[in-house]
Amino acid sequence: MTKRLLTGLQPSGELTIGNYIGSIKQVVNYEKEYETFLFVPDMHSITVPQDPETLHRRVREIVGMYIACGVSPTTNHIYIQSEIPEHANLSWVLECHSYMGELSRMTQFKAKSDGKKEIGCGLFTYPILMAADILLYKADFVPTGIDQKQHVELARNIAQRFNSRYGETFVVPEPLIPKVGAKIRDLLYPEKKMSKSAENPKSSIFLTDPEKAIRKKIMSAVTDSETIVRFDEENKPGVSNLLTIYACLSEITIEEAERHFADARYGDLKKEVADVVVEKLTALQDRYAEVMKSGIVDETLDRGRDYVRPIAQETYDQVRRLVGLGRV
Ligand code: ATP
Ligand code: MG
Repeated sequence: MTKRLLTGLQPSGELTIGNYIGSIKQVVNYEKEYETFLFVPDMHSITVPQDPETLHRRVREIVGMYIACGVSPTTNHIYIQSEIPEHANLSWVLECHSYMGELSRMTQFKAKSDGKKEIGCGLFTYPILMAADILLYKADFVPTGIDQKQHVELARNIAQRFNSRYGETFVVPEPLIPKVGAKIRDLLYPEKKMSKSAENPKSSIFLTDPEKAIRKKIMSAVTDSETIVRFDEENKPGVSNLLTIYACLSEITIEEAERHFADARYGDLKKEVADVVVEKLTALQDRYAEVMKSGIVDETLDRGRDYVRPIAQETYDQVRRLVGLGRV
């Protein structure tokens, strides 16, 4: 049987080149090999406050961006999490099979709750909903950036725990983490990952950024006080990040990128990185404008929902019977 791959992009902000390199690009590479489930986790986004109208708009934009990036709208199943109620149903059952201790160790929870006076419960239980997203479709692989590795590991633990208590039910999923580009860094604070919900828009390159903004952000990216272009994530995270972006978008290795910039100054490096980003994103933005004008987004979402819902219902029904919910 063809193996299943599943991944999602939250509509919590404008997509960044981190999302493109760490997630979307991987889907484009893998979609021929696997049966692919791509969903928009809008329920995850409300773990932090959202403007309702913006959230509705972004759900469609994410799908448009997937398609503009080259993800096939016909061979993949593309759907919205909240349109499949079994995600929430399974999440509750899994919550009752998870521990406070394991959730407290999640670094995303620590990072997103840091400094907040009031911390929503959803932010804490987020990884369980994510486990439900994956286990519901018995996905074999979850392509993701390094930031979600811990959550996929939790999903594996929950699946194994459930299987050993009730018998083989869930597939234990494996994360697929790219060797290069699993953590595109924040342009201003290169020790952190780039995030679409970052506070300062200068930290991230958004897929819809105009050329001028892209160039400005890259030219003011934080580097270091050395003058040598060399890949060293620990001591030179800013320069290494620029090399990574260049290598991923030019489809070359980090070593090749290092050789290409062997005698370059930081200013030259930044200019060339900006050139490849501009080239890539301008083409993408043209396709995106076309996609958003057509009716393809809603058609794709309707087809995706109708295809995946029976799969979700079957898994949830199996689970509820196993745990003893409802009538036999
Ligand atoms: P948010 O700030 O709202 O959490 P995000 O940018 O982290 O947004 P997510 O929707 O949480 O994006 O993640 C979508 C996918 O993109 C995941 O597979 C995640 O691993 C990947 N991803 C996110 N940020 C990066 C990054 N900086 N580098 C590589 N991959 C990333
Ligand atoms: Mg995130």
